[in-house]
Amino acid sequence: MTGGTVTLKDTSAARLLCVETQLGICLRSWFAATSSEKQYHARNDPCASSQTLIRAHSWRVTLRGVIEISRQDRVFILTGAGISAESGIPTFRGAGGLWRNYRFEEVASPRAWQRDPRLVWEFYSIRRRVAAAAKPNPGHFTLAQLERTLQDRLFLCTQNVDSLHEQAGSRRAVHMHGELFKSRCDRCDRNPFDDTETYDPPADIPRCACGGQIRPHICWFGEVPYHLDRIFQALSEATVFIAVGTSGVVEPAASFVAHVRDRAQSFYVGPEEPANACAFTKCFLGKSGELLPSLFGPQ
Ligand code: NAD
Repeated sequence: MTGGTVTLKDTSAARLLCVETQLGICLRSWFAATSSEKQYHARNDPCASSQTLIRAHSWRVTLRGVIEISRQDRVFILTGAGISAESGIPTFRGAGGLWRNYRFEEVASPRAWQRDPRLVWEFYSIRRRVAAAAKPNPGHFTLAQLERTLQDRLFLCTQNVDSLHEQAGSRRAVHMHGELFKSRCDRCDRNPFDDTETYDPPADIPRCACGGQIRPHICWFGEVPYHLDRIFQALSEATVFIAVGTSGVVEPAASFVAHVRDRAQSFYVGPEEPANACAFTKCFLGKSGELLPSLFGPQ
């Protein structure tokens, strides 16, 4: 493994935890975990032999861990809906998830657009209003600072369509599922353009000069995500991979961690294990707005 070393320090409790991974043998280290938690994970964690799980209850222990990134490292960060949850933007799955109120096939697919473009615009108009009111949280700011430090050695790939990474100061976020505040024509090859309007029914569907309908610049189910060439190039160079707030079920992003497995250390940050948890070197369990600022140390 060529990635940086990882040291987790709980300085407040004067505890030091070093996690060592050698030849695929992982020493699972526990600190401040109750015996019932240990028993639960011993019984239920299918990744027990290959993965280290750090449960960071902020009320129990202050995690001042540091992911050390060497000068040679190239860092790939993948963010999902969870990083914006603390900014008030609902995630897709889980309690309060967007898809509990809408069926995705009715609002986020090419068929939905053909069948009822007004309903699609109603859904994306709601999302535009919610996103317009949101402000970046410490997770976004931490990644923006990391970009300033690492510059082109950091590749930030987001599945999110909000602009919170940019608002926090990230300059090169790659939006693989599109951008909420952009629209494009569904007929001609005009470039996507900035658009903050809301188009609630019964408003007409906006039209392009070519006669086509203006649609949200979003990658819908059944469409190919954007910038995949750049993304896979960056993955092929990455030595550190960090996924934040993504449930690990939507492809192709869910497979990125497997793509880097042979040469990169991989970390997950979020309150619960993702579906692809087994593929990560380590999972840091907690809210990203609370954990991310402590993971990289002073920059
Ligand atoms: P998700 O809703 O599937 O998962 C959100 C994750 O965030 C969960 O694992 C949750 O534990 C975690 N989370 C919740 N609060 C958090 C916090 N405070 N800090 C960190 N993590 C937190 O979202 P996803 O994984 O991003 O979904 C993948 C992508 O699928 C989405 O970004 C979206 O682009 C796409 N998607 C698209 C459509 C569509 O219509 N095109 C529909 C559904 C999903």
